[in-house]
Amino acid sequence: MGKGIELGFDYIDLELKTEDARRNEIINKAIESGVTTIVSHHDYIETPSSKDILFLMKQCLEADGDIAKVVTTAHEFMDGVDVILAGKEAKSQNLRFTVMGMGRFGYLTRFLGPVAGCEMVYASLERGEEAVYGQVDIQTLNSIRIKKINFESAVCGIIGFPLGHSLSPLMHNAGFKELNLNFVYIPMEFPEEQLGTALEGIRSLGFKGLSVTHPYKRAVMNYLDGIDERASDIGAVNTILNNEGEFIGYNTDSSGAVGALRDSGIDIWSGKDKTLIIGAGGAARAIGVPLAKAGWEIIVANRTPAKGKNLADMLNSHSSTTAISISEIGDAVSDINLLINCTPLGMKGYPSESPIPVNLLRKDITVFDMVYSPMRTPLLMAAEKVGAKVIYGHEMFVRQGVEAFELWTQGKAPVDVMRKVVMDELGEGSI
Ligand code: NAP
Repeated sequence: MGKGIELGFDYIDLELKTEDARRNEIINKAIESGVTTIVSHHDYIETPSSKDILFLMKQCLEADGDIAKVVTTAHEFMDGVDVILAGKEAKSQNLRFTVMGMGRFGYLTRFLGPVAGCEMVYASLERGEEAVYGQVDIQTLNSIRIKKINFESAVCGIIGFPLGHSLSPLMHNAGFKELNLNFVYIPMEFPEEQLGTALEGIRSLGFKGLSVTHPYKRAVMNYLDGIDERASDIGAVNTILNNEGEFIGYNTDSSGAVGALRDSGIDIWSGKDKTLIIGAGGAARAIGVPLAKAGWEIIVANRTPAKGKNLADMLNSHSSTTAISISEIGDAVSDINLLINCTPLGMKGYPSESPIPVNLLRKDITVFDMVYSPMRTPLLMAAEKVGAKVIYGHEMFVRQGVEAFELWTQGKAPVDVMRKVVMDELGEGSI
C-alpha cells in the first residue's frame, strides 16, 4: 500500500480491519503525500440495516479515511434499497463515502450510486470481466448516463421477471439525454415473491415512475393508490406515475397499440371491421378492449381455450366476440380485415415461427405483430411477401414509451430520437 503512495496514485484503499498501527502508518504517509485515503468495510455475508451501514461508514471515517466505502452482499431487492437509503442519509450528513452491494441484487446500488450521493462508482471495463458478482460494466453505466446523474436526479425504471434485454432503458435514457433532463431510467428484475416489498422499497426511494412488464402487469394493481379508468377497464397496468407520493397505474400499451393502428391508416373509432386477435394475455386485453368499445367484431384464438373464452366474455359486453381454438383459425380468417398477434411467437428467445399458417395470409388483411424484437418476425415477413399491409411491434413499443415518458416528465417526448435508438438497436436503421 505504501508502494502505491510512492508510485503517485491519487487514491489508496485500505480495509477498516487493517491492524491499527499499520493503518495509521499508511494514512500518515498518505496525508504527507496528499493522497486521498478510502477506508473500506466489506460484508461478504449480508446487508446490514441502513442504520448499521451508516454506522459502518462513520467507523471508516473515524479511522481517518477521507472517504468511507461500505460494500455489502445483497440477497434481495430490499437489500439494495437499504444500501441506497444509507447513502442518502450519509449524504444529508455531508459525509464523504461510497456504498454498494455485491451479488445478484447489487445492481440497484450500482445504477443509483450517484443518486445516493456516492463520491465514486466502480465498474468493469468490459461486460463479463466484472471484479465481483453484481458489478456492472462501464458501457451499461454509460448508457444510463452515470456521470450526469446525481443526488437530485428523478429516478424511473422498469420492473419484470425475467426482464431479458429490455429496450426501455435505452429508449427512455436517450429521451432524457436529448432533452437534457436530470432523469435516469434503470432495469429492475426480481421474482414474484418480492413484488410487494420491492414496490415498498421503490416508494421509499421516491421513484418518479415505473414501467411494468411481464409478469407483473396485473399483480402490480394490488399495490397502487389509484388506477386510471383505461387501465382499470383493461385490467392491466404497464406504467406507474408517482403523483406527489401516490402511485397511480396507467395502461399505455393500449393507446400505443391504437396509435400504431391509427398511424398506419386504421382509425378504430371511425371504421368498424372484423379482427382476429391471437392470444389472450395482457397485450390482447390492451387492444381488445378499445376495439370492442369501438364496436369491432372480434375473434379471439388462444392456445389455452379457457383463457381465450374469458377474454371473449369480457369483450362481449361491448361488442360481438367469439372465442375459437387455434385449429379453427383457417375458417376464421376468411372474412377478417385485421390480424393481431398478441403472443410471443416469433420473439427472440421463443420459437421463431408464425402464430398462424402463413398460407392463410392475404393481401387484403392488415397484419399487426406486437412482437418487436426482431422487428421483422416470421409472421410479418410472410405478410409482406403476399403484399399485405404490416404494422411493426416497435411502433406500439415506441408509442407506449412516449406516453409514459410524457406522464413522468410532464413535457413533450423527443419521439424521433426514441424511435431511432430503438430501431438502431434492432439493427433496422430507418424503414
Ligand atoms: P402474456 O400476458 O403472458 O400473454 C401471452 C399470450 O401468448 C397468452 O395468450 C399465451 O397463451 C400466448 N402464448 C404464450 N406462448 C405461446 C406459444 N408458445 N404458443 C402460442 N401461444 C402462446 O403476455 P403479453 O403481455 O400479453 O405479451 C404478449 C406479447 O406481446 C409478447 O411477445 C410481448 O413482448 C408483446 N408485447 C409487445 C408490446 C409492444 O409495445 N410492442 C407491448 C406489450 C406486449 P396461453 O393463455 O395459452 O398461455
